[in-house]
Amino acid sequence: MSVQITNRSKPVDRRPMNWVERLYLVNIFKGMAITLKHFFKKKVTIKYPEETRPFSKVFRGLHILNRDEEGREKCTACGLCAVACPAEAITMEAAERQEGEEHLYREEKYAAKYEINMLRCIFCGYCEEACPKDAIYLSQTFTPANYQRKGFIYKKDDLLIPNPVTDPEGYKKALGTISREKEGV
Ligand code: SF4
Ligand code: SF4
Repeated sequence: MSVQITNRSKPVDRRPMNWVERLYLVNIFKGMAITLKHFFKKKVTIKYPEETRPFSKVFRGLHILNRDEEGREKCTACGLCAVACPAEAITMEAAERQEGEEHLYREEKYAAKYEINMLRCIFCGYCEEACPKDAIYLSQTFTPANYQRKGFIYKKDDLLIPNPVTDPEGYKKALGTISREKEGV
């Protein structure tokens, strides 16, 4: 004997259909009534990518390597972000700043190579928290889709934010501040 756990089970009606049921008209009209009911309801979908939803204030998106207000790279290749990363997604190579490069790098050491494997990243934000130089930042944009695995290995050029001096709009867009300004955050 089967034991009924809830009262939601429905016995299956196995009797043969009569000619009215075989026309399916009643069921078609029932279905159309449900469609019509939803037709006038507020849409839950949006026309992406023309429309986008506002992100939460705490959204952690694509990483950027930050620059200071003079456009100099802030990262000193100290490696703290890589150590803090639980997914071991960050690798880098340090280099010494040469004379005449003061306008490019803020500190005496900089990251000659910097890579993040986005397939490993879990967007926890630990790298941002670990950075003593405010050099890495999880922006309000997200990682675009790609057909190739290697397309998800973001190199320094992919991560480095546009120069705020020469490209202020691009800088704001990468930071995500344009969308936040629209929301009045
Ligand atoms: S967000 Fe987390 S997982 Fe991704 S690179 Fe930073 S520390 Fe690693
Ligand atoms: S991003 Fe920050 S923590 Fe990571 S190497 Fe550069 S300065 Fe150090």
